[in-house]
Amino acid sequence: MEYISTRGKVAPLGFIDAILMGLANDGGLLVPKVIPQLSADTLKQWQKLSYPELALEIFSLYTEGEIPRDELKKLVDDSYGTFRDAEVTPVKKLSDTTYVLELFHGPTFAFKDIALQFLGNLYGYVSRRTNSIIHILGATSGDTGASAIEGVRGKEGIRICILHPHQKVSKVQELQMTTVNDANVLNLSVEGTFDDCQRIIKELFADVAFKERYHLRAINSINIARILAQTVYYFYAYFQLAKDNAAIGDSRVNFSVPTGNFGDIFAGYLAQKMGLPINKLILATNENNILERFVKEGVYQPGEFRGTYSPSMDIQVASNFERYLFYLYGEDTEAVTTLMAQFKAEGRIVIPADKLKAVQADFAAYGVQNEECLDTISGYYSKYNYLLDPHTACGIAAADQLATLGEITVTLSTAHPAKFDESIRLRGIQQTYPEQIQALFEKPQFQKVVGGSNDAIKDELVNFF
Ligand SMILES: *Cc1c(COP(=O)(O)O)cnc(C)c1O
Repeated sequence: MEYISTRGKVAPLGFIDAILMGLANDGGLLVPKVIPQLSADTLKQWQKLSYPELALEIFSLYTEGEIPRDELKKLVDDSYGTFRDAEVTPVKKLSDTTYVLELFHGPTFAFKDIALQFLGNLYGYVSRRTNSIIHILGATSGDTGASAIEGVRGKEGIRICILHPHQKVSKVQELQMTTVNDANVLNLSVEGTFDDCQRIIKELFADVAFKERYHLRAINSINIARILAQTVYYFYAYFQLAKDNAAIGDSRVNFSVPTGNFGDIFAGYLAQKMGLPINKLILATNENNILERFVKEGVYQPGEFRGTYSPSMDIQVASNFERYLFYLYGEDTEAVTTLMAQFKAEGRIVIPADKLKAVQADFAAYGVQNEECLDTISGYYSKYNYLLDPHTACGIAAADQLATLGEITVTLSTAHPAKFDESIRLRGIQQTYPEQIQALFEKPQFQKVVGGSNDAIKDELVNFF
């Protein structure tokens, strides 16, 4: 399997080179050259597989011989052996049409563990196999950082530096990142927003000389390995439902996805392109609704940053969006390059009516207001005795708005409610923390507060790496 850049100026790469490159050297994003197509027969056979077995099949398609199958199996087993639920990503039924796909049973109680446990092990494998140093640099709005750190802490040959916006992540998220005291971990608390952190990272990675000199590797969802790992649970959830519910038969299922950087929902789009019969992909956002406006109006333009109860979705520029543009424009790298240059120069992209129609065939979108998010949490808690975290609540609220009567919708639950207790308590709901989270409050923290300039971050990196 080869990977190419959405901007067309990178020679095709193998899987391992693609994950090492992260952001493509021409500024684009890497995508598979050809998307594997699954037959109905294959889908039927896959229904019987456990989560790790299914992950192994999907990763085999995308790594195609580059990693021996027994090694790949070990990477998969190591990655999903750390999950607290035997099913890895169990599906919970709330009503005949409402299902929740619980993606938060990994070490840091957020869905990012699913991709980052795997990517951490993959980097460990690549470092051993090529005898090379891996320096990971990432930005987080809260969950990625903890997850990435958990994926590589203490691993030989790997160092990791994570930027988070100072005091703009939840207490539990902050503790999960900063209570790790392995010597290969550096937490930088940046004065600014997540978008500032993300921009700094993007610019440092775009400085190819700096990137090569310090062996910089990405863990942000621009890394294609993360997207691939996230396709697995769309298949798994669909199969669980089909098994569990004769009523589904061969019919299609909606997925509602709490969206920030467009990575998770892009994985769903990819699963659909591989042949999974998804009906609607519902794109749920919060008050930072650039993607909702894009789907409704065909204008992609950042608005004013809004603080919300779902901070992992407080994003104005969605880093994976370019991957979708690539497919929307029929894999035309020239068109993508022009659009992205226009975005850089004018701060917005406007697509024509025929493209907007195509977008609306691919996605339905809904932006959830802050109070509506909390209402959904309290409403579902009293009706179903099920506690939603604020991100999942956005997904549920969007599904309630956009699923047509009788359609089955699976909402992706992207975090455990304990991670966002500050918001949940606003509605007077008391929860008991899982013991792993409770224990964090007793531990010392390790982090450095820094200014939000490229140079300040560069100085820290040069000292650390
Ligand atoms: C990262 C994250 C999201 C958004 O996922 P994207 O892939 O960035 O769209 C949603 N919810 C939670 C809890 C997250 O951590």
